[in-house]
Amino acid sequence: MRLNVNENTHPVPEAVATDIVMALAQAVMGVNRYPDREFTTLRESLAGYLGHGLGPENLWAANGSNEVIQQVLQAFGGPGRSVLGFPPTYSMHPIIAGSTGTRWIDAARDDAYEISPETVAAAIRRENPDIVFLCSPNNPTGTPIGLETIAAAYDAHPGILLVDEAYAEFGEGDTALTLLPGRPRLLVSRTMSKAFAFAGARLGYLAADPAVADALRLVRLPYHLSALTQAAAVAALGHAPEMLAMVDDIKRQRDRIIVGLRDLGYLPLPSESNFVLFGGVDDPHAVFQELLAGGVIIREVSIPNHLRVTAGSEAETSIFLDAMGRIAALGKIGT
Ligand SMILES: *Cc1c(COP(=O)(O)O)cnc(C)c1O
Repeated sequence: MRLNVNENTHPVPEAVATDIVMALAQAVMGVNRYPDREFTTLRESLAGYLGHGLGPENLWAANGSNEVIQQVLQAFGGPGRSVLGFPPTYSMHPIIAGSTGTRWIDAARDDAYEISPETVAAAIRRENPDIVFLCSPNNPTGTPIGLETIAAAYDAHPGILLVDEAYAEFGEGDTALTLLPGRPRLLVSRTMSKAFAFAGARLGYLAADPAVADALRLVRLPYHLSALTQAAAVAALGHAPEMLAMVDDIKRQRDRIIVGLRDLGYLPLPSESNFVLFGGVDDPHAVFQELLAGGVIIREVSIPNHLRVTAGSEAETSIFLDAMGRIAALGKIGT
């Protein structure tokens, strides 16, 4: 049972899968030709899904949002440039920065992993980075970032601000998409990997001013999105309500995990994502190993005395909580 990488553990509904297969069958008939390098139909579908008055010219996509982020750093970062982030945050952000030669700068969060407008503005003024990354809701903490903080980060420097909203569909707060009008340096990245149950298809995207897509065109490889990826994503987006039907159930399981772990004496953080970070673990590696021995894989994180678990199906959540109950009874918890 894999509850370690925040996948949606629910499969694609069968009726939707059939439709995707039909779209793929059609696309296969044309794979002797290169795909639409502008992926226009896909950008129209993504714009329609996001709403907020966005059009295809505001959208960009790649093979997962990791590739979108890589292209952003290739276009706007690179040797001699820097990107500021607020750990603990998505572990791939500094790794992709490193692979593009962009210097990564850490800045501190406030208590409870929050970031106030004052904190974000002070860090940006102090470090003067070319690019700022914010992750909301944040992985691995589940913490959302308020729109005031995002607006303050935008105003605090003349460079690019990327808000990684991989878990937006699980959140309660407002999306940074509402801040896009009049902010040409704001980029909001999303993915079909989490809420959309499409991690294996590899489709990430971002919304921004059309000039951002023009910049990313300069760094992407020709035909980077295959005709099959485009066809599958367009077909899936045509069934967005069914694809997203499990989000409410996953949120219920997430909240069950929070209550269940708290009852066991652990310290789960509030979460607006499909995972829970919990503290109060004396020996996280021992708990990880104990769960693994029972067939449950969760995630060790860089935060001392903490572990992260993905909210799966109701049955998976029960198995995880039962296993944690047995471990707590063995006395492997702290206070
Ligand atoms: C999972 C995740 C992603 C993205 O993944 P792709 O599968 O490459 O789209 C991006 N950002 C965060 C914060 C994530 O947790």
